Amino acid sequence: MSSDALKLYNTLTRAKEEFRPLDAANVRMYVCGPTVYDDAHIGNARPLIVFDVLFRLLRHVYGESHVAYVRNITDVDDKINARAAERGVSIRELTEETNAIFQDDAKALGCLEPTAQPRATEHIADMIAIVEKLIAGGHAYVADGNVLFDVPSWKEYGGLSRRPLDEMLAGARVDVAPYKRSDMDFVLWKPSKEGEPAWDSPWGRGRPGWHLECSAMSWRRLGEVFDIHGGGVDLVFPHHENEIAQTRCAFGHKVMANYWLHNGFLQVEGEKMSKSLGNFVTIHELLTSWKGYSWPGSVIRFAMLQTHYRQPIDWTLARLEEASVRLSEFRARAYTAPVCEPSRRLIEALSDDLNTPEAIVELNRLFDDLKRHPLDWEKAGELKASCEFLGLNIGQVDLNQMLRAARGDLDETLIERQISARHAARAAKNWAESDRIRDELARLGVALHDNKDGRTTWEVRR
Ligand code: AMP
Ligand code: ZN
Repeated sequence: MSSDALKLYNTLTRAKEEFRPLDAANVRMYVCGPTVYDDAHIGNARPLIVFDVLFRLLRHVYGESHVAYVRNITDVDDKINARAAERGVSIRELTEETNAIFQDDAKALGCLEPTAQPRATEHIADMIAIVEKLIAGGHAYVADGNVLFDVPSWKEYGGLSRRPLDEMLAGARVDVAPYKRSDMDFVLWKPSKEGEPAWDSPWGRGRPGWHLECSAMSWRRLGEVFDIHGGGVDLVFPHHENEIAQTRCAFGHKVMANYWLHNGFLQVEGEKMSKSLGNFVTIHELLTSWKGYSWPGSVIRFAMLQTHYRQPIDWTLARLEEASVRLSEFRARAYTAPVCEPSRRLIEALSDDLNTPEAIVELNRLFDDLKRHPLDWEKAGELKASCEFLGLNIGQVDLNQMLRAARGDLDETLIERQISARHAARAAKNWAESDRIRDELARLGVALHDNKDGRTTWEVRR
């Protein structure tokens, strides 16, 4: 293994492996997306951010046009039906509204748009096609208007989660039904009651089971076998186990995806997040108001990346505050820097199973260097490009953040930097930029005076 090769921890083999795509000209990744019935919470932000970092890294290694990232939208699910009924809105209204908020959240968190975001309801015909293949192959049966996957028909079931059979059986007993041949069998297709979403199928009007949705969307968008499949660690069993069973039995390959990646869980202030504990926090709340502040998406993202993606995260106010201060310091030093290449050490850290804590050590190292050599624009550019590689935008000043970082005092270095940037803009006859900088400082209470000798001085007017 060469030191700069991309290595990823594969849940399938329980080992860190060198990543070798099936086709370097078409690298394919599928990540389970949200079920759109409620605002996404801060735990849901974790896979969003983690797999966005991987997407960026893959694009860097293989070229932007050679990477396909599919993140689905689950818009048919019992939780959706229940919530729509509760709120007295149509299913379509609920899923559209929730998805719109989700898209805004993802953007605010600095996530690139995936190559495709298929909706389950656009792929019903593909789901039916998979079920037909499974029945034909002896891996599924019809019972009482339901179609079930016949788990004992496939000896390799359980290969991903490596759970003992009795444990899987115990889990499956939660979902017993008289028509199941084995307690472990799971639903591929089920009949719909009056008022529930329904599609015609060879087994009557009904709707798909959740696991089937991802098998259909990944197949249609990425093929029968693809490179990377991701999601939170809670999805390993049963969701991903069942996706593998469906896809492999339908298409007959040795794998569904070669690399399975799972992010660790997030808890809040040491406790599992739940509505009843009152510590449930949505991304939208954080962005607008949490513990008295609105937290910019880049701060949330930076706070998240402090921990390696496979470790659990304890989400605390202190974590956010630290991230906020640190990012403002980076911004103050580097935001006007010219565009340049990200640090090689940063790429190396990320190539080692997305080691973001190590990548942040490198950001800190660049920052400390810059403090010693404040006029080293190359270094400033490297810090800026490295932040941007991680999806942390430090190119624009966020006034709120600047004030918070300076704890009420103005940052003189930053003002001097802005004055230099304004001089550069004026020299280039870019009057709009020069005015923008003057106005921005004015909003902070800093007035500029252009003196006869060409120097610009400033004073605070509050
Ligand atoms: P869901 O909408 O619950 O299916 O979750 C969408 C994604 O968020 C899945 O990849 C989950 O594994 C992940 N997820 C849900 N809760 C958490 C959490 N507390 N911490 C980390 N990831 C989570
Ligand atoms: Zn899925």
